[in-house]
Amino acid sequence: MKLCRYDDDRLGVVVGDMVHDVTAAQDEIRAAAPYAMRGDAVIAALPEWRDRLEDMASKAAGKPVSEVSLLCPVARPSKVMAAPVNYHAHHAEMQADSAIPKNRPKNSGIGDQGIFLKANSALVGASEGVSLRFPDRRSDQEVEFVIIIGKQGTDISQDDALDYIAGYTLGLDMSLRGPEDRSFRKSIDGHAPLGPYFVTADEIPDPDDVRFKGLVNDELRQDAHTKDLIYGIRRLIEFATSFYTIYPGDVYFTGSPAGVGQVYPGDVIRAECNLIGTMDVPVHAHQ
Ligand code: MN
Repeated sequence: MKLCRYDDDRLGVVVGDMVHDVTAAQDEIRAAAPYAMRGDAVIAALPEWRDRLEDMASKAAGKPVSEVSLLCPVARPSKVMAAPVNYHAHHAEMQADSAIPKNRPKNSGIGDQGIFLKANSALVGASEGVSLRFPDRRSDQEVEFVIIIGKQGTDISQDDALDYIAGYTLGLDMSLRGPEDRSFRKSIDGHAPLGPYFVTADEIPDPDDVRFKGLVNDELRQDAHTKDLIYGIRRLIEFATSFYTIYPGDVYFTGSPAGVGQVYPGDVIRAECNLIGTMDVPVHAHQ
């Protein structure tokens, strides 16, 4: 099942190119969720609600996806995690690029650096786009495969990891280059677009076998496959939960494949995957 959030905080089930409005379910789920809960109530409720959502969607009139404004598919994650340097080819291109400051030892990888956090307030959907605050500095697109956590857990083994995943989406880990701490540079408003949809895990039975692409103005920059991840999906879950408890709706960027490059106001970044969908994210100057 594919879910989206759109327009004025509506929830939709996407079938083909049509969105079917199931906002009434979202209202009921949120109303029943305790204020003190950590994580996203709708993602947490999916196991219980999925059949009802499909039933409601089958009875709701559809609207073309092209006529709605897509928002971030998860409204309230407790955190946004992100893997650094998790493809060998991306590590090599970063080392070779003299315009990118080297803030860490030359050969350090994810195991040494750990994962990092992006601010939840950086999350947006495709319709909102990315705005660049520092036009004189370099900002790169990083199109990544993204995990959405389904249930609370910690100290999760690789064998059990997939049980904790609700589904997947695509994300842009937008990256201002420079000497500041990574979380500071990558948490600028709008620097974490997700979408176009949230796709439940049953539609992607092997997340280590997913091809996806990143394009800028129709030019192919990133042509990637999750089989090339240094830390695969299961190991990423094990690694994160050796430090953190994860909660339903938590977002986990799995790392950028090679092909990152500068973007400018007026550009359109496209993230596409035949198992998830395609989103076009416009780049603006900060107003
Ligand atoms: Mn990244």
